Amino acid sequence: EPCCGKPLPVLGRDVAVPLVTGGEVTYAALDYAASAPALQRVWDDVAAYAPYYGSVHRGAGYLSQLSTDLFENSRVTVAEFLDCRDDDQVVFTRSTTDSLNLLASALPADCQVFVFETEHHASLLPWQDARVTYLDAPRTPAQAVETLERALADRTPCDGRGPGSGNGKGPALVCVTGASNVTGEIWPVRELAAVAHAHGARIVLDAAQLAPHHPLSVRDLDVDWVAFSGHKLYAPFGSGVLAGRADWLRAAEPYLAGGGASKKVARRADGGVDVEWHTTAARHEAGSPNVIGVYAIASACRALTEAGFDALVEREQALVRRVREGLADVPAVKVLSLFGDEAPRVGVLSFVVDGWNSSHFAAALSAEYGIGVRDGLFCAHPLVRTLLGSDPQEAGECGAPEAGPGERSLNAIRVSFGAGTPDEHVERFVRAVK
Ligand code: PMP
Repeated sequence: EPCCGKPLPVLGRDVAVPLVTGGEVTYAALDYAASAPALQRVWDDVAAYAPYYGSVHRGAGYLSQLSTDLFENSRVTVAEFLDCRDDDQVVFTRSTTDSLNLLASALPADCQVFVFETEHHASLLPWQDARVTYLDAPRTPAQAVETLERALADRTPCDGRGPGSGNGKGPALVCVTGASNVTGEIWPVRELAAVAHAHGARIVLDAAQLAPHHPLSVRDLDVDWVAFSGHKLYAPFGSGVLAGRADWLRAAEPYLAGGGASKKVARRADGGVDVEWHTTAARHEAGSPNVIGVYAIASACRALTEAGFDALVEREQALVRRVREGLADVPAVKVLSLFGDEAPRVGVLSFVVDGWNSSHFAAALSAEYGIGVRDGLFCAHPLVRTLLGSDPQEAGECGAPEAGPGERSLNAIRVSFGAGTPDEHVERFVRAVK
């Protein structure tokens, strides 16, 4: 194969799809940023465990004990994968969106939140009940750091007390994405964390797109929390992770009220009910947990670690270069970028094609070439509008009018790939675009 390394086996590489031109072709899954295919290894691990599946934390039987062990050991595996600090908590959730909403529900009183307008909606929107400052899109990584520095320096004092209420200005949280789901560009997370901490703020990393493509160390990046989703990390079974500092999570009301989160419940003499909640991760995991989903995440973490991120990154970067070169050969194509061509990026690229409606272009890639990409605004409307230079009031995700030659597109096409992507998929994509 022209690119380096071996693709890590994933499911779905032999799926045949029909073409409008007749016949069929094997499906080229180039929409990893939405949901990546399952690693073969994850599928095998889940299949091996499935007959032993049982309730977690709720049964005396052998299979319940086994499932509880696997569930709790998965926490350890994820903590190792993320290189967490010893006293960090790993909370299992449904997804990145769920993880960030959980953290939003755990903000201390009077917490100020700082978030770039360029974020995915999952990290842009959960903070609406807090005092949020939306930061303008930076055009370089250094500008991102300066913008945050200025905003934190200007922050207004408040009476907030409790953990993380640094500099006498009350608690603050910065939320930032590690790698953009639109441009694939990698953000200067370590530098942003240093600025946040220098100003007594905490920082949460949305690693939905970073974790599947890049080694991640909570300790080294010095972020307070990290959130990611199993289905983008090759483990498509409906679970996610919020990992990090225990103090805000322990002090907060449980995200969901119910069994599993409650340690002791008793009727009071006045007829009400007293509840003592757990102070561990279980506090925010009420209800029967998704043990298969959690086990799948742990399996993916192990598989990626064993395959070695160096090899995965090297191979993926070769594919990024191939796509970039291929697209550069087509003058009508414009690749979207905030930080410029040289910025490091994961295997996620968005582009527009002069004279084409992006939705039609994506539909043609599917119907005529069996290639699955995504079109639209990618749940990052402000960012895509900034990149396309469109008016915020112009048509959105669907129903964008036809863009004639020389006209601006109102949405874009995204191609994304990673472990398991064969060279042939990327070559077919480049050929099809040409
Ligand atoms: N953040 C980013 C950067 C994402 O790309 C996504 C998914 N597109 C999310 C958050 C939300 O992930 P989920 O849909 O799994 O909650």
